[in-house]
Amino acid sequence: MSHTESPALANHLMDTVLPVRPAMVDRGSGIRMKPGMVEDVIASGTAMAMVISQRKALVTAEGLWFGDATALWAALKESDAGAAAIYLGTTLMSSSLPEGTPVLLFTTTEPPAAGTATIPSDVQWAGFREVAATLDAMDTALFIEASAISNWHATHTHCPQCGSPTEVEAGGWVRRCPKDNSEHYPRTDPAIIVTVVGPDGRLLLGGGGPVDAKNYSTLAGFVEPGESLEQAVVREIGEEVGVRVTACQYLGSQSWPFPASLMLGFTATTDDTVARPDGVEVTRARWFSRDELQEAVLSGEITISTRLSIARSLIEHWYGGVIEDLQP
Ligand SMILES: [Zn+2]
Repeated sequence: MSHTESPALANHLMDTVLPVRPAMVDRGSGIRMKPGMVEDVIASGTAMAMVISQRKALVTAEGLWFGDATALWAALKESDAGAAAIYLGTTLMSSSLPEGTPVLLFTTTEPPAAGTATIPSDVQWAGFREVAATLDAMDTALFIEASAISNWHATHTHCPQCGSPTEVEAGGWVRRCPKDNSEHYPRTDPAIIVTVVGPDGRLLLGGGGPVDAKNYSTLAGFVEPGESLEQAVVREIGEEVGVRVTACQYLGSQSWPFPASLMLGFTATTDDTVARPDGVEVTRARWFSRDELQEAVLSGEITISTRLSIARSLIEHWYGGVIEDLQP
């Protein structure tokens, strides 16, 4: 804030964006460059590790399961030669792990059974969506980071230039081709997700699948190469519902690595009052006033995105508060 801005203006500006969620771990992008860094962390006896296999993590009833990295790695390597270790970072606050704990991700090609090796019998395998509602901020952040990096490794095993198998470096954050020495970094696919607001202040929501389905959400789409975020907003909204966006504002983002998306949240305005779904990606679209939306949700007429997603944050940003859900 510059000293010429009034406090009232500064508050107003801060109110217009989604809250920033602080990082939960220090990713140590400097220290992880050191060759053999992961092996050193494993040997240190201070690190804890989570396990992901085939997009599922080991969880307990309370959240992510973490094992002693030294013992767990020895057991995993014995049962799975393809097991890999990735440095996720050091915790910046206390959760089920103390602050300052180095955390590793172990990935395996075949999920080891609970009750074997050093994995207790009361843990189980679960995907992010199955357990997300029960995870605290630390476990959510680690599950998201671990999903993003493990999905990248699983699908980028070979050099895109020459086809040779690549080798993992930098704590699991770089793959290098031994043949042509090219370095390859984890990829993230930007996607825009948008609340479209009409000239009367009403919100446009849409959905795919069966025309009479009940779920409504914000419109979204991937950014294409050579396109700005704003151009992607205008293009996607035009394509999906035939509405011409006249202005848009960035509100915040959410990592959504299933498999590799970064959702960039916008609110856009239009002078149009008629939406024409393309019938392919979007099969139904509807304008809502604030009262209409709350009423439709409470009556069970429609459902909207859950609190896990940035879609809900964007909708509630437009709404100006919390939208009550229908209690089952
Ligand atoms: Zn190569």
